[in-house]
Amino acid sequence: MLISIVAPFYNEEAVIDAFFTRLSKILADHLPTYDVEFVCVDDGSSDRTLALLTQRAAADPRIRVVELARNFGKEAALTAGLTVARGDAVIPIDSDLQDPPEIIPEMVRLWAEEGYDVVEAKRADRSSDTRMKRVSAEAFYKLHNAISQHPIPQNTGDFRLMSRQVVDVVNSLPERQRFMKGIFAWVGFRRTSIEFVREARVAGSTKWNKWRLWNLALEGITSFSTWPLRVWTYLGAGIAGLAFLYGVILIISTLIGGRDVPGYASLMSAILFMGGVQLIGIGVLGEYLGRTYIESKQRPVFIIRTVHERPTAARDLLDEA
Ligand code: UDP
Ligand code: MG
Repeated sequence: MLISIVAPFYNEEAVIDAFFTRLSKILADHLPTYDVEFVCVDDGSSDRTLALLTQRAAADPRIRVVELARNFGKEAALTAGLTVARGDAVIPIDSDLQDPPEIIPEMVRLWAEEGYDVVEAKRADRSSDTRMKRVSAEAFYKLHNAISQHPIPQNTGDFRLMSRQVVDVVNSLPERQRFMKGIFAWVGFRRTSIEFVREARVAGSTKWNKWRLWNLALEGITSFSTWPLRVWTYLGAGIAGLAFLYGVILIISTLIGGRDVPGYASLMSAILFMGGVQLIGIGVLGEYLGRTYIESKQRPVFIIRTVHERPTAARDLLDEA
């Protein structure tokens, strides 16, 4: 049985040593009977990440380095890694060791012995994240799960184990907008979860600024819900209904009490408010239309420049020796 560890690397030169040291030790100690491959995706790093990874791949046949043509973002890097991985079980993991590899043996046990197709790793506590990130993440999961038919489990990231069958299904999805957490949840299968405490990064700094996170959240919501599009029908109908009633009231009060000229302030605020509401509505349409447009261009999600690995023949020779 082969286990693939899939890790995206974007300017992570500071964590590479720690990553391989910690993972190799755990795999050797707890899963000695399994073959392992490391699929390291270099997501267009501009530091020495790629050089350090290929250097390792040249020395260690278990390491395969997928070099992307530029920075495509984590979701695309993960997608690339999943298509290259050959394992019977595939485990995506952050390269900064915020996902503790110590729970991998338990994941493998649940998959191999109890027959689960997906073993999710659930963050039991996010105290290593900033308060702002915790609050915004919580709000995102709440909103997403309230308006999407396919809830994503709260506090579950990309760290998980998936069987070959699940990975094949994920790889076969043709969509370009890849919100991996949502896709992983959408495919279903027999699943279970293990809790873990999210650690701080071993080195380096986060690659996600607030703007990127905001866009990821939009991606998640627009990929899995059309509620933001439909809500305007109801909002519009509600406002039109109220406006009609107000019109009736105005007519009656004019008939009874005569003309009433003042009203500039209320008129102005009603116009501005409605203008704002309409612009928001158009903006939401734009979010979806833009995504439909990108989807329709059928561009690949990622471009692989090279896969750095020992040729299979050399690997077999090495295995024999
Ligand atoms: N990452 C990537 N491409 C990017 C941004 C991030 O491959 O454009 C990788 C990064 O190297 C790390 C993982 O995605 O392995 C998670 O990123 P990070 O730790 O910066 O995010 P955080 O844990 O702070 O949410
Ligand atoms: Mg991280």
